[in-house]
Order: sequence, then structure tokens, then C-alpha cells
Amino acid sequence: MTIPHQPAWMDADLQTYRDMVRRFVQEKVAAHEDRWRAQQHVDRELWREAGALGVLLADVPEAYGGSGGHYGHMAVLFEELAYAGDSAFGVHVHAIAAHYLLRHGTNGQKHRYLPLLASGEMVGAIAMSEPNAGSDLQGVRTTALRDGDDYVLNGSKIFISNGYLADLIVVVAKTDTGAGAKGVSLLLLETKNAPGFTVGRILEKLGQKGQDTCELFFDEVRVPAANLLGGVEGQGFYQLMQELPYERTILANISIGRIERALDLTVQYTKERKAFGRAVFDMQNTRFKLAEVKAQTVVARTFTDSCVERLINGTMDTVTASIAKLWLSELECKVIDECVQFFGGYGYMLEYPITQLYADARVQRIYGGTSEIMKEIIARSL
Ligand SMILES: Cc1cc2nc3c(=O)[nH]c(=O)nc-3n(C[C@H](O)[C@H](O)[C@H](O)COP(=O)(O)OP(=O)(O)OC[C@H]3O[C@@H](n4cnc5c(N)ncnc54)[C@H](O)[C@@H]3O)c2cc1C
Repeated sequence: MTIPHQPAWMDADLQTYRDMVRRFVQEKVAAHEDRWRAQQHVDRELWREAGALGVLLADVPEAYGGSGGHYGHMAVLFEELAYAGDSAFGVHVHAIAAHYLLRHGTNGQKHRYLPLLASGEMVGAIAMSEPNAGSDLQGVRTTALRDGDDYVLNGSKIFISNGYLADLIVVVAKTDTGAGAKGVSLLLLETKNAPGFTVGRILEKLGQKGQDTCELFFDEVRVPAANLLGGVEGQGFYQLMQELPYERTILANISIGRIERALDLTVQYTKERKAFGRAVFDMQNTRFKLAEVKAQTVVARTFTDSCVERLINGTMDTVTASIAKLWLSELECKVIDECVQFFGGYGYMLEYPITQLYADARVQRIYGGTSEIMKEIIARSL
């Protein structure tokens, strides 16, 4: 199966790249999805294989171990993974963690960690959310207080993607408990040999069952002061805000990949499935509904492509990225729900890819900023 639409930002080189990524995704990712769902995480080897192929940090300069491409290369990876029905490989979170470093890290931090993230020797994660602070990150209670040459981390995080396998975690913490948003900083925590750092159980989720989403606990964990992202305290909120366009465009790319897959699966199934002596596809309700889905998909694809272009040429802004995240994730859930209906009872069976898509989709409206928070951001710009 192929992604039916040729995005405007694709050129011949990117098409060759897409073919390579598609083969990798089929052989190394999609083929193992059932096992990963059972064990609740991907194999560590996958990270090294992806690193060796140069797809993990394709948009990071070669000077830092990346492949020297642009966001189009990453969009190809996210879309191919989504189209293949993958929801286990947390490469999006890994890339976001790397981009915090790329944009805000000191020279030393970039040279130390980016090559390891690019090769897959290190798996990256971002730890913002806490049991009492999700949308409202000003409420984080995790502290990182200076003590000599270290910061001492105390607190806990919840719902952290890649949490089980992560080697490098960007931790949101308060370096000044009396300064509100201005007291928030980002710390780079190496998880190996970090006494006091523990990973809780991998959380049981509605979907995305192959993704290692975890709780994290910090009990007097010492982080060298050199691992304060950017080297200046109190920059955490600014750094978080700067990366929102990148994060939210990624989620839009994932949504469009899944929407296109859902449509393809449903057209194929309804043409094969017979009821009352004819294919389900030949019933007017099916044809009209799928025609609507097709129209929505084409419009969504066009908008997503314009977002990819804007990210490539550096003109993407937070409001447009929030519109993309809001609209694409809502459409993803709506379209997949409509598609499930055409599978009848089989659409409720987890062995069917459409059912997996349904379960995986729901959280797209919640993480990376909820739909309501996206509306807040958009409304503020009006
Ligand atoms: C599978 C999964 C993976 C995740 N991965 C990560 C990760 O890697 N790193 C990480 O840090 N976090 C991660 N998260 C956490 C995720 O980002 C949060 O769950 C999300 O931001 C919402 O926060 P919350 O759960 O605390 O909900 P709350 O903030 O408590 O929100 C509850 C409800 O209130 C609404 N609400 C809140 N504020 C407003 C407002 N101002 N106006 C209107 N409505 C509002 C929300 O939209 C929501 O409907 C993940 C979550 C899941 C489920």
C-alpha cells in the first residue's frame, strides 16, 4: 500500500528517502508490533538500527551527528510509521528532546548528547507532566535545587513516553520555588548511574500499548550543574514555548498518516465485504460517507503539507501549529470512528488494524497539549 498523495514538499531525493524509510518501517517496525504490544515497549535494538540508518535525527546538522537534512525527512518518518499503524516507537518524543538540545543547549551539551541520540545509543524522553500538573505546567512540584556543583532533583513525573528505555531525560523542574514561571528550568538527566532515580511500572493504556509510558521518581538525584539546559536558570518556560511549533507539527503528521491509512483500509474492506448480495462499498451510505472522508483527507493533507513547508522554511508559528494539532487530531478521531463502523463487529476486534488505529488515536487530542489548550492558544490570537 502507498500513501496516495504526493506532498508538495516532496522531491525526488525525498521520494527515494521515503522508499528507504518505508522498507525499514515494514521490516523492522510493523513486523514486530504484536510482540511490542505484549511487552509494552520496543526492543532497544530498534533504536540502534534506526540510528545506523540515519533516520532518528535526520534534521539535525552533521556536526552534531545528525543526517543534515530538514524537517521533511522527519515528516516522512512520522507519516510512514503512522501509516504502518505503529504507535510503539517513540521516535517523535526522542526527536523533540533532541531539538531542545539543538536549539537551547550549550555547545558542550550539543556535542556530548546529540551524536548519542542520533546513533540510538541513547533514547530521549521529555518529563513535564506530574500527577498534579499537566496542562498547567506552572504547577510542577519537582524541584532541582543547587548544591555545590550539582542540582538535586526531587519529585515525580507521570505519563512519560519512552520512560522505560530512556537514557537521557529532559526534566522540567523548579530551580527557584519562589519565582513562579521564571523559576522553571530544564535539566538533562542521564538515567544510568543516577542513584535515587527510579522508573515506575509501564502504564496500562487504552491504546499505544507498545509504547513505554511510565511514571518517574526522583529522590535526591544529583545532576551535574553542567546539565542545566542552556546553562542559565529560569529559562525553562521560554525553552518549552519555543519548541511547540515543532512538537505540534509532528502530531499533525502522525494524524494525517493514520487518517490516510484508515481510509485505505476501509475502502479495501468494504469492497470485499458482502451484505444483502452486494459489496458494502456499493451501498450509497458507504460511498457517500467515504467520499466525505476522502474530501476531508485531501483538505487535511494539503493543510498539513503547508505546515511541513513552513517548518522547513522557518515560518511556522505557535498558533498555526496549534491549529494543525487541534484540527488534525480531532479529524483523526472522527474519521477513524466512522471507518470502524464499516467493519461491523470486526471493527471491534483488536486483531484488525482499524481497531488498533481507533484505540491509538484517542490520546492525540490529549497529549502534546489538549484540544482545549489548543483552542485557548488560538483564541488568544483573535
Ligand atoms: C499516552 C500519553 C503519553 C504522554 N507522554 C508525555 C510525555 O512524554 N511527557 C510529558 O511530559 N507528558 C506526557 N503526557 C501527558 C500529557 O501531556 C498530559 O496528559 C496532558 O497535557 C493533559 O494534562 P493532564 O492529564 O494533567 O490533564 P489536565 O490538565 O488535568 O486537564 C483535564 C481536562 O481539563 C481541561 N483543561 C485544563 N486546562 C484548561 C483550560 N485552561 N481551559 C479549558 N480546559 C482546560 C483539559 O483540556 C482536560 O480536558 C502523556 C500523556 C499520555 C496519555
